[in-house]
Amino acid sequence: MMSIKENLEKIRESLPKEVTLVAVSKTKTNEEILEAYAAGQRIFGENKVQELTRKWELLPEDIEWHMIGHLQRNKVKYMAPYVALVHGVDSLRLLKEIDKQAKKENRIIPCLLQMHIAEEDTKFGLNEIELDEILGYEHLEHVKIMGLMGMATFTTDEQQIRKEFRKLKAYYERLKEKLPQANILSMGMSGDYEIAIEEGSTMVRIGSSIFGARNII
Ligand SMILES: *Cc1c(COP(=O)(O)O)cnc(C)c1O
Repeated sequence: MMSIKENLEKIRESLPKEVTLVAVSKTKTNEEILEAYAAGQRIFGENKVQELTRKWELLPEDIEWHMIGHLQRNKVKYMAPYVALVHGVDSLRLLKEIDKQAKKENRIIPCLLQMHIAEEDTKFGLNEIELDEILGYEHLEHVKIMGLMGMATFTTDEQQIRKEFRKLKAYYERLKEKLPQANILSMGMSGDYEIAIEEGSTMVRIGSSIFGARNII
């Protein structure tokens, strides 16, 4: 079995230099995260606020913590002081709550809007109409929309995955016309990041290919 360091190096070599790697460390121990840290990784992603906060408290201060999972509004306050990027914003109500908590912390929280691109209805995300609704709402001064995030259908059908990523890229191009600051397209995980990069991803979220399989989800 390859070490975390070796896995990281292999993935880094395969990424174009303009693509940012988020190491998804959910369910992994502080020791495992420190191994990736020692190999130079500084951006980590988690999908549960409680776990994220526990790790933020104990691990090096220069780690940039990304929230990549589905987020409940009542949990936003716990991560508002430190979260570097929220990937999964899938409603205006949630965005408003992030804005409110960011204001209390006297900061601006960078966010990505999560689009629904997969065929499964289990995956969260906005449709085109909801996206326009959020973009039309201009009263939020403590969040900054930096781009889009999406998850493709979990399938071995490459064409299906490619089609979904293309759709997300098209939404992203439209978003950039309205928001020139937007420069992040978060798409691609261990199983599909190569396709995602071919389709224009600027940020990949990779867990199991770095840290090994997870026992618990
Ligand atoms: C777990 C997770 C990932 C990473 O998944 P892997 O298949 O382990 O690379 C990426 N994005 C989100 C939103 C996740 O929840």
